[in-house]
Amino acid sequence: MSTETLPANDASKTTNDVYFRCFAGCEGRHSVFDVIYTCPSCGSLLEVYHERKPLQEKTAKQWKDILDSRASTTEWPYGSGVWGMKEWVIPTMENKNVVSMNEGNTNLFWADRLGKQLGVPDLWIKLCGNSHTGSFKDLGMTVLVSVVKQMMQMENNPVKAVACASTGDTSAALAAYAAYAGIPAVIFLPAGKVSTAQLIQPVSNGAHVLALDTDFDGCMNIVKEVTQDSSIYLANSMNSLRIEGQKTVGIEIVRQFNWSVPDWIIIPVGNLGNISALHKGFQLLMDLGVIDKMPRLVAAQAEKADPFYQSYKNGFKEKVSVTAGETLANAIRIGDPVSYHKAVKAVQETDGIVEQASEAELAEASAEADLTGMYCCPHTGVAMAVLKKLINNGTIKKSDRTVVISTAHGLKFTDFKVNYHESKLDMDCKLANPPAYLPADANAVKDEIARRLQG
Ligand SMILES: *Cc1c(COP(=O)(O)O)cnc(C)c1O
Ligand SMILES: [Zn+2]
Repeated sequence: MSTETLPANDASKTTNDVYFRCFAGCEGRHSVFDVIYTCPSCGSLLEVYHERKPLQEKTAKQWKDILDSRASTTEWPYGSGVWGMKEWVIPTMENKNVVSMNEGNTNLFWADRLGKQLGVPDLWIKLCGNSHTGSFKDLGMTVLVSVVKQMMQMENNPVKAVACASTGDTSAALAAYAAYAGIPAVIFLPAGKVSTAQLIQPVSNGAHVLALDTDFDGCMNIVKEVTQDSSIYLANSMNSLRIEGQKTVGIEIVRQFNWSVPDWIIIPVGNLGNISALHKGFQLLMDLGVIDKMPRLVAAQAEKADPFYQSYKNGFKEKVSVTAGETLANAIRIGDPVSYHKAVKAVQETDGIVEQASEAELAEASAEADLTGMYCCPHTGVAMAVLKKLINNGTIKKSDRTVVISTAHGLKFTDFKVNYHESKLDMDCKLANPPAYLPADANAVKDEIARRLQG
């Protein structure tokens, strides 16, 4: 590979300051507008790299002021939490090609009651599920679909459609953003393994939904084969454009804390793109002098699909792959995580931890948090359960500032909630709170209320 394959089609749309490079360190740069997912020399994942020098021409203070000023603007496209950081994401995007529904800028709130109950009063929840399609996947998809839109206007463009394999939320995001841009989307789902909401989202957005008789990893193999031909562009997180959008979550958290860094960030992980992205964002902030310490990152896995936990336990001596078992946390039911090497770096360079939670632990932790006003999706439940473990074993201290990243909206997982509160899950649903069915009789109602409020 030559070291300079730039510019691809149109010099004005590429730059020497941002490009794909091999994550494993091979020589070679590729335009972010090229159809390329892995290193042509060694097959590793690529990463989008931003040359630091041009970015360092601004001081940390100047960057903070710019980002602060854009957080509430309506000036297109800077009001998006992702495109408010355009210079750090894809500076070579033309504003007219940005495909955005104002994702990001999600609320970070103080979990006052839950934190006190758990013994960590400085507990915060970053509600990434408060987003267009109900999960943090919107952050990466706005970047990927924007790049595709710009690509499709270039000469000799081969791309006609976008495709992904999904455990549910990726396809919902891809379908919505592709529909917004008018680009056809092909979605591969493991039949019967995603929630009703997750299935109906791409259906509603007009995507070509193909439900395959396999699991996520099986769908992934098919989509890789189908996208060999560059007419269909691969939108899985193997495509490192998505990481660029997702990295804004960590930066946003720091901005929301007035540019201070929390001690811990806990995130539920499956394919490991999200934790890799968090780390990449913090790395950029360090290099630009915006922050001077890293938060400790905690990867939370479901015990039923825990290859990264197993790798962590072997000291990351080797990557473990498993056949992912059935878990309530279906969006992280992944046995062979694609961003493994990036995530290892994320954990190692932040003095991070990988921990896991059983089905009963994740369901109980969700229900407990809900009783303090939250509405946790099962993945956030995994993070909550891991939080409890780390408090109980003394790792997270009372004075530590901890952020749990809530990755999806609980409303996408109604089945999970219903089954828990109807005690239909294969566990002791201790906090089940089914409605009382009563005759329309004032005395019966009064008795019931009195009985309940007594306790
Ligand atoms: C995709 C997803 C995750 C896991 O993200 P990865 O990048 O695959 O590690 C966690 N929670 C939810 C709700 C998701 O949709
Ligand atoms: Zn390489």
